[in-house]
Amino acid sequence: MTVLGKSPAWQDADGACSGYLVEAGDVCLLLDCGSGVFSKLRRFREYVEVDAVVISHLHADHILDLVPFASALTYAPRQQPVPVDGWPGTDTPARPRLYAPPGAAEAFERVCGGGGMREQHIANAFDLREYAADDVVEVGPLEIRFQPVPHFLLTHAVEIREGESRLTYSADSSPSEDLCAFAAGTGLLLIEATLPRPEREGPRGHLTPSEAGEHGRRAGVRRLVLTHLSDELDADWARAEAEQAFGGPVEVAHEGAVYEV
Ligand SMILES: [Zn+2]
Ligand SMILES: [Zn+2]
Repeated sequence: MTVLGKSPAWQDADGACSGYLVEAGDVCLLLDCGSGVFSKLRRFREYVEVDAVVISHLHADHILDLVPFASALTYAPRQQPVPVDGWPGTDTPARPRLYAPPGAAEAFERVCGGGGMREQHIANAFDLREYAADDVVEVGPLEIRFQPVPHFLLTHAVEIREGESRLTYSADSSPSEDLCAFAAGTGLLLIEATLPRPEREGPRGHLTPSEAGEHGRRAGVRRLVLTHLSDELDADWARAEAEQAFGGPVEVAHEGAVYEV
């Protein structure tokens, strides 16, 4: 798993919002596609090689780069049926599967239409499939499962499994017993640690580093990686807070970091 973007809803300097590249053999999957992620993806893989994109929830910082990704799939020379600009032309343009929560088709129409694109810009470029929380999605050897977690709108933690290897992603979540149960015993829990302190008012939507560490401990995970935290928070402070609650070493995601699961 390669971290393409780990910023929260606003990017770090030179950073990107949520996006993680998961590779297993030849199979290549993109987990979330926030602002800046398409550019980062291009440093590591040809975008036409992405087999599937999986979206945890429909917040802007997890979906907005689906727009430029769709533009590439629609307009790039290599995707055209006739030779263009030195590209040979293809009868089989890439059309990755796009797994997204219920309501995604309508949300993508609004995003694209509001941005002056055809409303179907994303739906035409990708093979869009809205998943249900209890679906098990297969992408090559990868099995993908979902767990609703408490956030400001319908949001799913995501498990990606290949044989005995398990990667669990919290997505955005407030404190959650369900998340602990879903992640129990996982090989690597990639967990959000957005907040320097719990929200002062209103409903909770995110975790502090200490709470992220506590979730990792209760779930008995092998490795814990903090993500979705701003470069305006001190990463060493966040790691120390999480390690105290986790009771072991914790890593803080940075862009370009690669994790073997
Ligand atoms: Zn987010
Ligand atoms: Zn969110």
